[in-house]
Amino acid sequence: MIKIAVDGLTGSGKGTLSDGIAERFNLRHLDTGAIFRGMGVSYLKSGITEPTEENVKEILEKTNISVVFENDKQQIYLNGENVTSSLREEAVSKLASKVSALGLAREKYLEIIRDFTNKYDCIIDGRDITSIVMPDADVKIYLTANETTRAERRYKENVEKNIACTFEEVLANIQERDYRDTHRDIAPLIIVPDAFVVDNTNINLNETIELCSNHIEKVLKENGKL
Ligand code: C5P
Repeated sequence: MIKIAVDGLTGSGKGTLSDGIAERFNLRHLDTGAIFRGMGVSYLKSGITEPTEENVKEILEKTNISVVFENDKQQIYLNGENVTSSLREEAVSKLASKVSALGLAREKYLEIIRDFTNKYDCIIDGRDITSIVMPDADVKIYLTANETTRAERRYKENVEKNIACTFEEVLANIQERDYRDTHRDIAPLIIVPDAFVVDNTNINLNETIELCSNHIEKVLKENGKL
């Protein structure tokens, strides 16, 4: 089986990279951040603004979160309702980042993705994929870029999708999420020693895909998987 793990900072282009690699190597792409975003939507619907170990239990009990692939596109369902179109809202991003630091939420997330790695040739992106979810992956990629570049990309994306926000809000949100992702007690974002580290501040996402594809191809050929 082929397993590619991708971790990286918010807005570093993990999703676009993973889609590009999935297409090139015929892999299934799992975006794990969408699961925490689904939990964020559930918080938003419940009106609770501050996720805690106490209220997350209640939220997870009353919400059945599932990941479904429809025409090869990943969808998130909450109690049978497709909430995929709400996942990228800034309020949801903030809640997702907060809920992802909670132990019970991470247990649930691991439960949801447990079978995926054994079923498919896959590329999975998130924050703890190279360290916890697939420490045995064939290739581990760590993606980064400076925070202003990441905020500019996310802001442009939001404008294209008609999501109301200011650049300053997006930047502050990214800084806050970076801090939380790298400093939390459970499953913090780290660079594992055998990661292929790509800083794409000065290269575009197509060039990032090209660079990582070449690396993946080389490793898979060496391992006799291509
Ligand atoms: O990658 P994305 O921005 O969609 O992830 C949403 C939030 O979920 C992130 O802010 C991050 O804190 C969290 N996350 C995580 N572990 C993962 C994937 C995402 O903690 N494997």
